[in-house]
Amino acid sequence: MQLIFYPHPTLRHVSKPLRRVDAQLRQMITQMFEIMYEHEGIGLAANQVDLPYRVFVLNLTGDPNEKDAEMVFINPVILRRKGTVEESEGCLSLPEIRAPVPRFQTVVVTSYDLKGREFTMEASGLAARAIQHEIDHLDGVLFIDRLSPSQLREIRDQLEALERKFAEQQSAGMIADSRRIAARIAELEAVRT
Ligand code: ZN
Repeated sequence: MQLIFYPHPTLRHVSKPLRRVDAQLRQMITQMFEIMYEHEGIGLAANQVDLPYRVFVLNLTGDPNEKDAEMVFINPVILRRKGTVEESEGCLSLPEIRAPVPRFQTVVVTSYDLKGREFTMEASGLAARAIQHEIDHLDGVLFIDRLSPSQLREIRDQLEALERKFAEQQSAGMIADSRRIAARIAELEAVRT
């Protein structure tokens, strides 16, 4: 399992809900936390490790020792949204790019946890922002999709650099060709969703 970067096609995949929580899924989630900490993130969605599953992990402290702060969201759904706020945002799959993004100030989200139990929580501020950012990933949406044309112009060079790097890695065979990526995603999806 490894982190993938824009414009990898799996980041555009709309993930279907998982049918069950089992030991294999828990193992994947453990690895997702490891990758998130390794890259100094506070959240990571399954798309970002090339998996077509509706699951993301969060630890808003970013500190691997703060196990109590770890949260897992399986098949999350936002039930209610309130207020809007604009704050700077970044993404592990778009390294070194930051921009202010408008988000709902407060959200109520329902989800399943690692034991397959449903829970509902209200989140505000950074937690609400992170939850909206990660659920966007599960829908194939990146924070750059929420920027204005003038904001996009400001980061265009950085995006183009990532696009060039991806194309180079793909033609060097370090990343599978897009048809093979799609076939693998469809296979994984058929088993668990
Ligand atoms: Zn992200």
